[in-house]
Amino acid sequence: MAHEEPTKSTPTTKLLIRNIGLILSGDLAHPILDADAVVAINGKISALGKEKDLDTTAATTTIDANGSTLAPGLIDSHVHPVAGDWTPRQNQTGWIDSCLHGGVTTMISAGEVHTPGRPRDVVGLKAMAITAQRSFAALRPSGVKVHGGAPVIEHGMIEEDFKSLADAGVRLLGEVGLGSVKDGETARQMVAWARKYGIQSTIHTGGPSIPGSSLIDKDIVLAADADVIGHINGGHTALPDDQITALCEQSQRGLEIVHNGNERAALLTLRLAKELKNLDRVILGTDAPAGSGVQPLGIIRLIAMLSSLGDVPAEIAFCFATGNTAKLRKLDCGIIETGRAADFVFLDYAQHSAGKTLLESVRLGDLPGIGMTIIDGVVRSERSRNTPPATKLTKVI
Ligand SMILES: [Zn+2]
Repeated sequence: MAHEEPTKSTPTTKLLIRNIGLILSGDLAHPILDADAVVAINGKISALGKEKDLDTTAATTTIDANGSTLAPGLIDSHVHPVAGDWTPRQNQTGWIDSCLHGGVTTMISAGEVHTPGRPRDVVGLKAMAITAQRSFAALRPSGVKVHGGAPVIEHGMIEEDFKSLADAGVRLLGEVGLGSVKDGETARQMVAWARKYGIQSTIHTGGPSIPGSSLIDKDIVLAADADVIGHINGGHTALPDDQITALCEQSQRGLEIVHNGNERAALLTLRLAKELKNLDRVILGTDAPAGSGVQPLGIIRLIAMLSSLGDVPAEIAFCFATGNTAKLRKLDCGIIETGRAADFVFLDYAQHSAGKTLLESVRLGDLPGIGMTIIDGVVRSERSRNTPPATKLTKVI
């Protein structure tokens, strides 16, 4: 497992990806692009289209996609990292590297809640959040962009605390409701302070998960008005259907579906979002590491589950884990368009899938094979050690 620091000043690099069979843009408005080549300079997408129309000279890295599918690197909207690529939750190392082999190139912390002896006092929780933010900004496990440093709010925090967190570089709140703040009024005030200083919030939704957490029902979620209705399908226990329905109908915030939640409630949420023409609100996470472990293929499994059982075209389901999350969380990745980060995953239908294209195989509920991942224009993993083998394999020339 390689731990690499983000590069600061590097000479010009030019990545050319050619012979792409299908490009999934990650953007719900036009999920499939008519292009067969992508160029990225210094880690940013600079051009895409038909290869014959692009300036493909002087590439420093050329990749032959061999007719496979290119998608934006997947984003896990809900993880609980602690330190580098180690998690004390299941005493496991290398879990982030394993998720990279599941196509995940960006992770968003919903709180470093599994830190042993996690401080609950205001000074301590702020210090821990700033440390986590610094740690993951300085060191990317296997190149994966982990947005860490997400304090769990506690009673006693004042507006100045949110300002000082923002001034120190903290951009996320951990799940509201995992700490002592469990009433709608206090949560609403603290979420509003966070928002005022550019800090995004996620609320824990549903039954208790870790010790100390408790039921957060729809009234608290609606009152708090956090940016993301975290694990609306429960992590671990989902709210009753009428409460999930109320959240979909009465809020306009993000609807986060997690792998560690209730799959039936996930499908209910998806159906409601479809009926409300709110599919742009649907984003995906794993909620790992957790009691049920880590799921290196959690995001790609959710895509296949929602597409096949939720009756959504595969190219739309991919948007839930890419462009939707990027837009909601204001990230520069997640969509294949010029100017965005060159974070990609190469996929193809798995060997012996009943589906004979990537989209058909996912629609039938099969996991695709992952052939390669790229982050900031740099190849980070080749043939996945975790997915079934892809039919067509991508190669660095
Ligand atoms: Zn969580």
